[in-house]
Amino acid sequence: MPIPDSADLINLDSLLSPAEKELRAAVATFVDAEIRPGIADWFDQAIFPVELVKKLGNLGVLGMHLTGYGCAGRSAVEYGLAVLELEAGDSGIRTFVSVQGSLAMTAIHRHGSEEQKERWLPGMAAGDLIGSFALTEPTAGSDPAQLATFARRDGDDWVLTGSKRWIGLASIADVAIVWAQTDDGVRGFLVPTDTAGFTATPITQKLSMRASIQCDIELHDVRLPADAILPNGKGLRAAFECLNEARYGILWGSMGAARDSYLAALDYAKTRMQFGQPIASFQLTQKKLVDMALEINKGTLLALHLGRLKDAGALQPHQISLGKLNNVREAIAICREARTIFGGNGITLDHSPMRHASNLESVRTYEGTDEVHTLILGNHITGISAFD
Ligand SMILES: Cc1cc2nc3c(=O)[nH]c(=O)nc-3n(C[C@H](O)[C@H](O)[C@H](O)COP(=O)(O)OP(=O)(O)OC[C@H]3O[C@@H](n4cnc5c(N)ncnc54)[C@H](O)[C@@H]3O)c2cc1C
Repeated sequence: MPIPDSADLINLDSLLSPAEKELRAAVATFVDAEIRPGIADWFDQAIFPVELVKKLGNLGVLGMHLTGYGCAGRSAVEYGLAVLELEAGDSGIRTFVSVQGSLAMTAIHRHGSEEQKERWLPGMAAGDLIGSFALTEPTAGSDPAQLATFARRDGDDWVLTGSKRWIGLASIADVAIVWAQTDDGVRGFLVPTDTAGFTATPITQKLSMRASIQCDIELHDVRLPADAILPNGKGLRAAFECLNEARYGILWGSMGAARDSYLAALDYAKTRMQFGQPIASFQLTQKKLVDMALEINKGTLLALHLGRLKDAGALQPHQISLGKLNNVREAIAICREARTIFGGNGITLDHSPMRHASNLESVRTYEGTDEVHTLILGNHITGISAFD
């Protein structure tokens, strides 16, 4: 599916290969068929459409940037294009793909043993198994060094105790990657969710990401065998490597929510009549639409540039912060501005911009808040860390 000229003002498409465009079209077709028809009701009723998990596996987007173990082995740019299209449908569905692929599967692929990879990755890539990634705690969010969950040794076993908060998909997951303090620093553990002492309770009354699940987790003396630890990832750095993968996806995905809001507003503005004219004929409306289009083109070009750097093995963490901070900030502004073009109709779920804007409140918060990414960039520019 070609992107309409009104969304691609600088012929970004000319920078994509035929294979990249083909993959994007396949995901866009999936979004049209499987997400758009149901999303307003799912968001309204706070339903995560679990039946999509297997379909997303069949589409080949779960852990698609990983190689081997049933994963698709696609490039970083292809992964970016896929999540952009998914987030044009809804951030909650893209969030599932990020938690599954960028966080849980990446943790196992990068830090796991051969046995752990064989045990979990093929089923997760196929959408037969669901993973979650449990780092955040009630008292450790932006500062995960404060993790209080502890894993102690008892003979050969590990015994985990603690609480986690905001953990995506945990109540329907088969396995949780739980990050815990040990006598040897922070380590990741593979916790099958049916292990005694593990409970996950969905957080309710959310005003954002309503077509998605986030949970509180309690770990009461969760006893695990010796081989539950991820052997190849030591310290918080191991968790951050996974977070960087997810942050990279977000800098693409947010542009999908922005593009969908802009195109919806453009369509509406051309047909909505006031003062005897379509509202698109008013200069103030045109300025809103032009400002949206500028930032979508700039943000998508930035995402593509960072994706090419990633595929060349040259992408730096501060560049991911730059992309995530800029693109989510611009996307949320675009969605809010798009909402104004719908007037009163814009506050209903008949139209996507306000749903996207409310989802993006979560997106600007998770995987490093605006403030955290500002301080990462501030540190890079000045050489002085404001965290310490
Ligand atoms: C929808 C959703 C899904 C999520 N999914 C997951 C998941 O799957 N797994 C997981 O582990 N976590 C997940 N999270 C948690 C998310 O990563 C945290 O919410 C995030 O890291 C922020 O932590 P916090 O909410 O505790 O806020 P806090 O860290 O308490 O921050 C509160 C405010 O203080 C600011 N602040 C903090 N420190 C500083 C500083 N040094 N300087 C300036 N300002 C500062 C922050 O920027 C923010 O504005 C999810 C969150 C949401 C909302």
